[in-house]
Amino acid sequence: MDNYIVSARKYRPSTFRSVIGQEALTTTLKNAIATNKLAHAYLFCGPRGVGKTTCARIFAKTINCLNITDEYEACNECESCVSFNEQRSYNIHELDAASNNSVDDIRALIDQVRIPPQIGKYKVYIIDEVHMLSQSAFNSFLKTLEEPPAHAIFILATTEKHKIIPTILSRCQVYDFNRISISDIVNHLQYVAKNENVTAEPEALNIIAQKADGGMRDALSIFDQTASYTAGQVTYKAVIENLNVLDFEYYFRLTDSILNGDVVNSLLTLNDIINRGFEGQYIISGISSHFRDLLVCKDPATAQLFEVGASIRQRYIDTAQKCDTLFLYNAIEIANKSDLEYRLSKNKRLLLELTFIKLCQLIDNPNPSAPRVTSNSIKPIVQSTQPAVASNAPTPSTEGQQVPQANNYQSSTASTNTIAEPTQQQKTDTTVKTKKGKAILNMGVSLAAASKGINNNEPSETTAVTTKPTQNNEAFTEQDLLAEWSKYYSNLKKEVMLRNTMMNSKIKLLDDNMFEVEVSTDINKEFLEEASVPLMSFIRTNLKNDNITMKITISDAPILEKPLTKRDLFDNLVDENPALQKLSNEFDLEIT
Ligand SMILES: [Zn+2]
Repeated sequence: MDNYIVSARKYRPSTFRSVIGQEALTTTLKNAIATNKLAHAYLFCGPRGVGKTTCARIFAKTINCLNITDEYEACNECESCVSFNEQRSYNIHELDAASNNSVDDIRALIDQVRIPPQIGKYKVYIIDEVHMLSQSAFNSFLKTLEEPPAHAIFILATTEKHKIIPTILSRCQVYDFNRISISDIVNHLQYVAKNENVTAEPEALNIIAQKADGGMRDALSIFDQTASYTAGQVTYKAVIENLNVLDFEYYFRLTDSILNGDVVNSLLTLNDIINRGFEGQYIISGISSHFRDLLVCKDPATAQLFEVGASIRQRYIDTAQKCDTLFLYNAIEIANKSDLEYRLSKNKRLLLELTFIKLCQLIDNPNPSAPRVTSNSIKPIVQSTQPAVASNAPTPSTEGQQVPQANNYQSSTASTNTIAEPTQQQKTDTTVKTKKGKAILNMGVSLAAASKGINNNEPSETTAVTTKPTQNNEAFTEQDLLAEWSKYYSNLKKEVMLRNTMMNSKIKLLDDNMFEVEVSTDINKEFLEEASVPLMSFIRTNLKNDNITMKITISDAPILEKPLTKRDLFDNLVDENPALQKLSNEFDLEIT
């Protein structure tokens, strides 16, 4: 390994053609050479490691080539090209302004500018990180830039274009370099791996490319390190260990748990990840990106945006098929919100767990304050159970059939969670839900177009839930109403809190169409409001009256003879699902 050359140098492109990911730009440069329209000053802008200096060198070599090819590439054979390639050409001068930014450095350079080239036509001056030049250095450089000798060409490079003063900008032709796409990086790494006799898994190269964030130099450097550390076996596992990246398996596992409404497993997986030393914020932003990727993969057209190897992409596409668009949208929103809250949070672990509990609730209750049916109309994994279809199944939660145990658990846990944090948490929750409800509602208009005037049903921020009158308007009695009311809640299997609320509330018919529900607490009211769309739809359908309106009030007097304490509620929930006790023990949940 005496002559070991790092790949970034060894595989540095020597022609415009071999520059990766900057085709538009290299074509423009070649055209300038072809038409002999060379400017005296160029400004190359773009992130680090995307080929700015490389292109500048190729450009310098090409315009000095004595035997330029028909494709306007350097021949790499003539005396000039050879001296360039052996880095002994006098026609190229490089100044790194990051370390040589004084007036003296610039003066030394300017002195050279006057001397014409011995071989070739142009002397090219590359000033890297030009924004680092001191003010006085800038000023003395400006004069030369205004009246350069015919043989001098300046190529200024910068990662921070906004720091370049307008007087410089206006004198330069500006070229913006792009980040190199992940697939371009992966392809190039594959090429390098083959040449270096390194075996590399596509997934591994993909992780490297992602980590390099569009920079080829960084990608090659990570590749070199991993290849040497693994003795030429660049596996996915080795790369994620080396780079401390969380295995995407975990994200898939979390997604499965969330889709099954399985709080226990999601929290256990979370625990596992934390024990591996990953930071909470990393996990949250990771799951958020994961959902984004799934969203992108829902549509074959946008799946192209998802830059990964074919095998992983198929896995994402398959998982995406199991996810409803609205679910993904909401999941991203929940994750983003907790990403924002994370830094401020005093109990980060709790925030993390709450986030996953909320995510697990989503599948049952995709959008708490907006019409549920909206989601049903676009959700492939849930059999449509719009109450309006006159079936007697009141809840839209048929997905319970898939994993009844887990779902059962999910509801209960979610409720406990609410109970554990009675005041502050709820308040924030409610506002968020309302906001979100509106956002979704706007977004979902076209989706819900088929579902009968649902948009009128959004629970308003005031108590009354109203709807515009339509056709059915049959008279009904309080008895009829009570019968439907109890029919609805007795069919609730998983939504324990809602069932308790409905069971323990007082119903009174106020006039022909409006009834009042008296509940004892804010939480109860919230439960009712969240359920109001399917509930009202059920009642209206079964009583054949589309004008029925529900008004929810909170009464001061206790409605129950003995109001349930939080402990009572929790015990109730444990009766429903003994696994909850296990969870409570596992995570040391306290009921306050
Ligand atoms: Zn040549």
